[in-house]
Amino acid sequence: MVTKLYLVIPCYNEEEVLPETSKRLLLKIKTLQETKRISDESRIVFVDDGSKDSTWKLIKKYHSENSTFSGIKLSKNKGHQNALLAGLAAVSELADAVISLDADLQDDINAIDKMLEKFENGNDIVYGVRSSRKKDTFFKRFTAEGFYKIMSFLGADIVFNHADYRLMSTRALQGLLEYKEVNLFLRGIVPLIGYKSDIVSYERSERFAGESKYPLRKMLSFAFEGITSLSVKPIRMIFSVGIIIFLISIIAMIYCLGSYLTGNTISGWTSLIMSIWLLGGLQLIAVGMIGEYIGKVYLETKARPKFIIEEFLH
Ligand code: UDP
Ligand code: MG
Repeated sequence: MVTKLYLVIPCYNEEEVLPETSKRLLLKIKTLQETKRISDESRIVFVDDGSKDSTWKLIKKYHSENSTFSGIKLSKNKGHQNALLAGLAAVSELADAVISLDADLQDDINAIDKMLEKFENGNDIVYGVRSSRKKDTFFKRFTAEGFYKIMSFLGADIVFNHADYRLMSTRALQGLLEYKEVNLFLRGIVPLIGYKSDIVSYERSERFAGESKYPLRKMLSFAFEGITSLSVKPIRMIFSVGIIIFLISIIAMIYCLGSYLTGNTISGWTSLIMSIWLLGGLQLIAVGMIGEYIGKVYLETKARPKFIIEEFLH
């Protein structure tokens, strides 16, 4: 069976890159079709994330010229993650495998061949991993790699240096769609789905035209979203800090009483300092306790699937 492959590409104000991107992707798809790697019904799906420039006009033009191109237009700008999910949801029933990638082709499209190969060998999810970030600015590299490290420290199971360039099979996609949460952080959720997976590494290159749609402000809010939507560890940290301060308060108490008894204090200092330490610690412990329950409520409201069945023999 030849794979029916769909490429899903979220686009936000990408008129500068689309002409080149569509050309390169079409060439890639044609080559794969000629060598019978993918079926003739394979598609390139652009998702217009409420662009303000002529992005949608271009997508419509490509679609009318060549039926390999499809387009989805969102009613307004909803952000990269939601645009991507919209595209994945729309094609989940149509394709055998879906690859998501960025419109600027910073992620090497030649990795598609290797992804397909791993898919054919029985992997449901194939992660594209950046082997080096030489072409990224020092700042981007530093912040991005720091982000992956903080995430894994906080216990979120994410693939190091993997962004949203990945192949997913139909059933993996259907698993993903079971996650109904609103605060969506795809690259953190995909590993939770399970199934056999593998990685393909590639070199990340520069954006060939246009500007990054992720300014520092968006990057920070993205990172914060990732951490708070995947981990309740920060709440536990409040609790631990509370305990530590409470223990310090005991030491402080001994010190204060010692100073008081040796007459090294002015009146009122001892009781004041002791209360500050003790209350600070107790309050943090209390906040941590409440947080623990809020964390539980938070996880419950996500209503994540408790399991996904891979096979059922009967
Ligand atoms: N994007 C989107 N909606 C947004 C911001 C970005 O669909 O609100 C798309 C954008 O068009 C691109 C991808 O997300 O295809 C990644 O954006 P970009 O290349 O600017 O990010 P960077 O590579 O700088 O992290
Ligand atoms: Mg980019």
